[in-house]
Amino acid sequence: TPEETARPGFLGRILGRSEPKTVVRRTLDDDMLEQLEELLIASDMGVDTALRVSANLAEGRFGKKLSTEEIQRLLSGEIARIMEPVAKPMPLYARKPQVVLVVGVNGSGKTTTIGKLASQFRAAGKSVVIAAGDTFRAAAVEQLQVWGDRAGVPVLTAPEGSDPASLAFDAMEQAQKDGADLLMIDTAGRLQNRADLMEELAKIVRVIRKKDPDAPHNTLLVLDATTGQNALSQVETFRDLADVSGLVMTKLDGTAKGGVLVALADRFGLPIHAIGVGEQIDDLQAFDPEDFAQALTG
Ligand code: GDP
Repeated sequence: TPEETARPGFLGRILGRSEPKTVVRRTLDDDMLEQLEELLIASDMGVDTALRVSANLAEGRFGKKLSTEEIQRLLSGEIARIMEPVAKPMPLYARKPQVVLVVGVNGSGKTTTIGKLASQFRAAGKSVVIAAGDTFRAAAVEQLQVWGDRAGVPVLTAPEGSDPASLAFDAMEQAQKDGADLLMIDTAGRLQNRADLMEELAKIVRVIRKKDPDAPHNTLLVLDATTGQNALSQVETFRDLADVSGLVMTKLDGTAKGGVLVALADRFGLPIHAIGVGEQIDDLQAFDPEDFAQALTG
């Protein structure tokens, strides 16, 4: 089924996983290319990217006999080449506080990612303040407080339903007063009313710029890798709502169709700062293009 073939490591299926990889050789013909294209598309890579990756692989090799291992290596190389330019950790600046605005739809993993990032920054010796800017979801605020406790980082909150921009302004003042290295601001993720959300995010940016004209220094968009092609439209939406500077891809553990990362890199070129690989505080990793490409095609 497409579900099975789309999983990371899908390549073995058409290439005969049971045989020793160096022994089975297949002619790179139209049939073979078509199968490759279909698998890449099923992995959520998107049609354009899948066709280009296959075409690049076939260039100068059409009609040749290749072993499974060779095809795997070539495909993995093509994918790594697309992913290398976007594999960049979040830039850190000397600015105090460096303001990190975190955006994304509800459920994408914003809260969890903020907790994990806060913990990593703390481990790197940085002082961090979190602002619970999704003031309309009491559960989100509570959850963020739990993560703040785990990470050993203060979480600034405001009464339910109050103006997120006002909280952001207070948090900015507090972080400046405390000499904090980083201020991470959570935001609402309800897309049901885009105009409202746009105004809310714009207002947050406006007020924090009263304290630092360069803020926010990073705007992270958190995307759930299991949403497949939806992630592409989410990037488009959030780029209209905020000045997105980088991505965090969550839920890449399990059976996520990681191919969407290739489509994202190919289409938008936004840096992937980190990937979420679980629900625990340490389950946030730097994005490694080689590892990723190998896991996807292995
Ligand atoms: P938010 O609504 O965007 O703040 O999303 P949350 O941070 O509350 O996350 C939504 C759900 O996804 C929670 O159950 C998290 O535990 C889970 N989650 C977040 N990141 C990851 C990840 O990298 N892997 C897995 N397996 N689950 C994750």
